[in-house]
Amino acid sequence: MDEQILVTRSSMPPYEEYIEAIKPLWDTHWLTNMGVYHSELEEKLKGYLDVPELSLMVNGHMALEMTIQAFGFPEGSEVITTPFTFISTTHAIVRNHLKPVFCDVKEEDGTIDETKIEDLITERTVAILPVHVYGNVCNVEAIERIANKYDLRVIYDAAHAFSVAYKGKGIGNYGDASIFSFHATKVFNTIEGGAVTFREPRIYDKLYNLKNFGIRGEEIVSDVGANAKMNEFCAIMGLLNLKRTDYAIQERKKRYDYYTQCLEDVEGLRFLRQKGVATDNYAYLPVLVGEGYGRTRDELYDILRENGIYTRKYFYPLTSDQACFKNKFKKMNLKTARKLANEVMVLPLYEDLAMESVSKICGIIRANG
Ligand SMILES: *Cc1c(COP(=O)(O)O)cnc(C)c1O
Repeated sequence: MDEQILVTRSSMPPYEEYIEAIKPLWDTHWLTNMGVYHSELEEKLKGYLDVPELSLMVNGHMALEMTIQAFGFPEGSEVITTPFTFISTTHAIVRNHLKPVFCDVKEEDGTIDETKIEDLITERTVAILPVHVYGNVCNVEAIERIANKYDLRVIYDAAHAFSVAYKGKGIGNYGDASIFSFHATKVFNTIEGGAVTFREPRIYDKLYNLKNFGIRGEEIVSDVGANAKMNEFCAIMGLLNLKRTDYAIQERKKRYDYYTQCLEDVEGLRFLRQKGVATDNYAYLPVLVGEGYGRTRDELYDILRENGIYTRKYFYPLTSDQACFKNKFKKMNLKTARKLANEVMVLPLYEDLAMESVSKICGIIRANG
């Protein structure tokens, strides 16, 4: 059997570089609890993401859960969000004892349909939680207008949008807060990790309490918190990967462009990607297998799999249709989201994906179209 091609492959620094970089930890034995590398990475990320405020977290999910918690919404409040996302987005709302109100998405890029948000607002609505899905940027201006009009908070799930800049500003500058994931499969990774960027400086202290048991001194616990700190091994991984991120994105772009060239004219196939709206991080390559293509999405998925190519149906099913949430919340019209979920498939894309592999994948897709 041929080699297997997975949908992604983690970026890593050279082995020797990492080994060299973690050596000081054997001198200090300071492995976690806001160590020097934790601080250094927070500072470097503020610069790289072009944001004034940032707090590192153990992973992207806890970043989101704690950000929602930091705003202190009353239990049972409603949060308008998208079902066309990774399950983490919806879990974070529900685990905060809030109710997700699912809004449909836009056919062209899969982001929340801002024209449908206002109809969903009730007196219990406290926040909007959109997702920059695949790095496609939401209509941040329209969302801000709505939020201001109804006095709502906006928290972006920017897990896919690392390094994305919109209108000359880092994407983390929009809304009250944004969360990023540094999971091994993301464009930039710290093995596991994440961060919150936010507007008000006071959020830093609140998140600090939430991620470190609320401990404020040897004998002082001033807030009820959990444990969601990033350790020094992960922070060092981040410092080394951050130096390589621009290179990794360039390499992704080459492969992305090659895919586009090969597949542009295939009938019924469409890239679910924005063009020219923001800077692109080439995090994912989602395509829609629609009417006019020779096979259904599921058929193409199976054919590629038989050839050792493991694509993913991101994001199918919608989070609102998952067993744990089905029939639990208000029923919404999610026609477009459902259509995208039924047609979407994410093709392999990573910095060292062989061009021959791209060529092989495109060949199979063209032969079945
Ligand atoms: C990856 C991801 C998360 C969660 O991040 P982790 O670091 O894996 O906890 C949240 N939301 C979206 C959209 C994601 O893709």
